[in-house]
Amino acid sequence: MARMMGPSGMSGNGYGRMLFDDGSPKPNMSKKMLIRIGKYFLPYWKQTVLVMFILLLTSVLGLLPPLFIQHIVDRALPNKDMQLLVILVLASLGTTVTSGLLGVLQNYLNSFISQNIVYDMKNQMYLHLQKMPLQFFSNVKQGEVITRMTSDISGIQGVFNTNVVNFVSNLFVLVTTSVTLIILNWKLAILGMVVVPLFIVPTRKMGNIRWKLAKQTQEKMSEQNHIIQETLSVSGYLLMKLFTRDTKEYSSFQTVNAESTRLQIRESMAGRWFMMLLTTFTSIGPMLIYLFGGYLFIQGEITVGGIIGFVALLNRFYSPVGQMTNLYVNIKRSVALFERIFEYFDMKPRITDAGSTLSIDTTKPDIEFRDVCFSYQEDTPALREVSFTAASGTMTALVGPSGAGKTTITNLIPRLYDLNSGSIRIGGTDIRDFTLESLRSHIGLVTQDSYLFNGTIKENLLYAKSDASDQEIIDACQAAYIHDDIVKFPDGYDTVVGNRGIKLSGGEKQRISIARVLLKNPTIIIMDEATSSLDTVSEYYIQKAMHQLLHNKTSIVIAHRLSTIMAADKILVLQDGAIIEEGTHEHLLDQQGLYKELYDKQFERKVFT
Ligand code: ADP
Repeated sequence: MARMMGPSGMSGNGYGRMLFDDGSPKPNMSKKMLIRIGKYFLPYWKQTVLVMFILLLTSVLGLLPPLFIQHIVDRALPNKDMQLLVILVLASLGTTVTSGLLGVLQNYLNSFISQNIVYDMKNQMYLHLQKMPLQFFSNVKQGEVITRMTSDISGIQGVFNTNVVNFVSNLFVLVTTSVTLIILNWKLAILGMVVVPLFIVPTRKMGNIRWKLAKQTQEKMSEQNHIIQETLSVSGYLLMKLFTRDTKEYSSFQTVNAESTRLQIRESMAGRWFMMLLTTFTSIGPMLIYLFGGYLFIQGEITVGGIIGFVALLNRFYSPVGQMTNLYVNIKRSVALFERIFEYFDMKPRITDAGSTLSIDTTKPDIEFRDVCFSYQEDTPALREVSFTAASGTMTALVGPSGAGKTTITNLIPRLYDLNSGSIRIGGTDIRDFTLESLRSHIGLVTQDSYLFNGTIKENLLYAKSDASDQEIIDACQAAYIHDDIVKFPDGYDTVVGNRGIKLSGGEKQRISIARVLLKNPTIIIMDEATSSLDTVSEYYIQKAMHQLLHNKTSIVIAHRLSTIMAADKILVLQDGAIIEEGTHEHLLDQQGLYKELYDKQFERKVFT
């Protein structure tokens, strides 16, 4: 099986590079990117327009209370007009309550829009990842796919609230307030606005620092997840324990953990200092207004209510300025989030339907390899000009030392990988001309380490044929010589397998997997025979099950057992990615070549590895 399902190797196929290179330290905030993000909002444009309208309304409503205060101070109080006072107070209360109610509606719409965008994106991502080749999953760091599917995409929901809504609402408040301020008293308005540039200068710098820290934190977190997944999963745990790497793993976890903690503290502190500066600057404005406003009052140019109302409005002016400067940081973070997600979307599935709709001719499904060359990584060919024909209805056995390319041959037939040159034909047609679905539905694959998902035995079997009847399931299991074992389990076919249920032996798993392929009833069978680790009884039953499975089918079997090899119609001997001998068992023994050598070495164990 070589490294097919192995741990994450980063190099090689380009996917690794695209995922983990840091690239430019600044997020790409180009027009194209923003349009791409905008497209996700398009289906919800009605709700978005409604949100905008509510924001405009609340920004206007927000102007009223300070103006009411001005009238309370200037008219109701000096004239001891109780009725006016009550009216103004009630009006003030009324606008506040209305704004609050509108806020609730707006909140509902916000979450409706953002949750639906997350929903759409998750579906799109799942569909996209399903199309990615096997190579992608063997190269990607463990946990990386989960992080992107869950926390990254879920992070998007905050984008609408923190960015779009904030931006628009602040913009409305800013425009309506500044116009009102100028109308009220243009001299004071200019004075109040003079301090604004003080906010802007440190903003860019802080924005960059915070963004950089956030990105570093995210990377450390994903490194941390990676360690957790690699060492605290069943096989990772075993590896760690058996090689007594506990202390070493703990210390690397601790290091990454410490770094991410330090980064997170720094990130939140960077934000605090920033806020403190903003608060200081925002308090300078009102002081200036009291000073200059007081002077204008003495000159008889403005009333006391005018000054109080003005200062109240001025705060309404500063708060959006403060938030807009923060917004810049948030937008950068959100764009970075989108970037991470788009990075995945931009990875093209390399194995695609050629647009043809051909289906496999099931009457004569012979498999022909013509000068097939393939490499997982540039410059290290795994197969070199491999040519052979597996005649329809016969069994072809692949033998050869480990790493010779046997698994690679079996991976190329269902197009888990695409070859570099040459061609593979089934019934005379290039496999790239079939639809992927037709190709794969006619191929049954039994791997050495058969994967059963965490569910009942029956559910695992139904994966091959969802509408199979109970009788069909039983027939398949009887043919695979596993029925008698299954009925002995306490829950029979409803026994849960995997890490939440019963632990099956390798032999049992492989026989269930054979039953699964029997149910699928494909035209072509590809099988990686279980190795010598099976006990004799298991081995015996697997042989019998295999016999049933391969009967009258075109099959390619990676053979480890003498009995399989003897039963094969043709044996291909592989070494270093090339077929060096080909023929029947007797013919090959006569040749006195590698096959004879392997046979002599391993005959005693009656096993080829
Ligand atoms: P066999 O099944 O005969 O043991 P394989 O077909 O698994 O051999 O491997 C052939 C060669 O390809 C080996 O050199 C192996 O290291 C390499 N190889 C196998 N799988 C991968 C992979 N996913 N990425 C990179 N190299 C691989």
